Amino acid sequence: MNPPAIAIDGPAASGKSTVAKLIAKELGFTFINTGAMYRAVTWYVLQQGIDPSDTQAVISALAGIPLSFGKNGSVSTVMCNGKVLGDELTLQSTNDNVSTIAAIPEVRALLVEKQREYNTAEPVVMEGRDIGTVVFPNTPYKYFVTASEEVRAARRAAQGLTDSIAERDRKDSARACAPLTMAADAQLVDTSDMTIEQVVAKIAADIRSRMA
Ligand code: C5P
Repeated sequence: MNPPAIAIDGPAASGKSTVAKLIAKELGFTFINTGAMYRAVTWYVLQQGIDPSDTQAVISALAGIPLSFGKNGSVSTVMCNGKVLGDELTLQSTNDNVSTIAAIPEVRALLVEKQREYNTAEPVVMEGRDIGTVVFPNTPYKYFVTASEEVRAARRAAQGLTDSIAERDRKDSARACAPLTMAADAQLVDTSDMTIEQVVAKIAADIRSRMA
């Protein structure tokens, strides 16, 4: 049996990353940002001059991909040839192409395997789109964190980032492989009228009460 895995899924800019990070801190679990993993593959593919819509070329590039997935303290990191990636992951070009790359089943298979490896030795809070449905379908701790589209767009704008969140959500929900969808046994948390602290407190209390 693996240690506990907390699955936090939801659409773009729903606040799930911030919430998941704080919950991980509170519980002393490792925080895993799976969006960063898909973003890293996207950045690498673009760096290589590969057209993201050329699925076969992307699949061929996966075999020699110099990315590695580790941790800095209790937070996941993504490295390319040993260098930790940061700003590369939120470039406009990365934002614009990540949903195309994430729709490729071979990309997902590679990354899902890496995501599960994180949980073999330690408890994790993992956030993404398919954590409760595909990565850890048997975990009893599943939360689908969302907010209205207006609130999410305002949150992104407040971060000073341009991000086509509606377009990404549309593509992420429509893809055939592991689409963005709420697991049947997940709890829905609508954060439109909640502060980050309220969301963290609600989810952490639920986890604690069920682990006790
Ligand atoms: O979470 P974030 O917005 O950084 O994710 C970027 C993109 O990565 C998503 O729009 C989606 O296309 C992809 N993704 C995914 N599955 C995950 C996490 C992210 O398809 N588990």
